[in-house]
Amino acid sequence: MKSKEGLLVVLSSPSGGGKTTLCNRLTEADTNVVRSISCTTRPPRSAEVKDRDYHFLTPDDFEKRVARGEFLEHAQVHGHYYGTLRKTVEDLLAAGRDALLNIDVQGAATVCKLAKADPRLCRALVSVFLMPSSLQMLEQRLRRRGTDDEATIVRRLAEARNEMARWREYDYVIESGSMEEDYQRMQAILDAERNRSGRLNFETE
Ligand code: 5GP
Repeated sequence: MKSKEGLLVVLSSPSGGGKTTLCNRLTEADTNVVRSISCTTRPPRSAEVKDRDYHFLTPDDFEKRVARGEFLEHAQVHGHYYGTLRKTVEDLLAAGRDALLNIDVQGAATVCKLAKADPRLCRALVSVFLMPSSLQMLEQRLRRRGTDDEATIVRRLAEARNEMARWREYDYVIESGSMEEDYQRMQAILDAERNRSGRLNFETE
């Protein structure tokens, strides 16, 4: 009686803003949500697993894929390339799954622009900005994580300030609290968005 298409959930937040934790919590709790695995030219961190956390590519391979039009969006973030594969997103949406994109503000802006010209993307898109409670908190998290050197932390904090200023470009803003609060707010957004009349198709005639 009811048919549904998947959501294209774009989630952005500065480094250390807690979005990876939120993505993990969400995909564990909600089996319809699947994280789109991005490509990157950044080297893997010690706990990261190839093709689970990212598809790790050489700059040459990344650029070839750009030329072949394989990316829905791509951007340079903190000196490395990152990109979302078009096929990953198309396959998830076609299967009725919700595709979760953990991408930066440039990537989110590209997806929003594409959606303006593409009715299917436009219908699927929900964008969320996870706003850190303060820059001090971000700094603490980056230091505690212990994965970045001092210069990287300083650069990421400077970029965080610019990213946070772009919160108005998103449909929703979650003011970050505890991990559980962030998750509950995100789940509430997804529950509401799944029930928008424009996204449902009841065969009532
Ligand atoms: P990290 O290196 O800390 O994993 O990620 C750095 C930044 O790149 C984060 O803001 C993350 O959301 C963003 N990012 C990860 N994957 C993609 C992607 O496919 N496209 C874009 N535009 N940004 C991405």
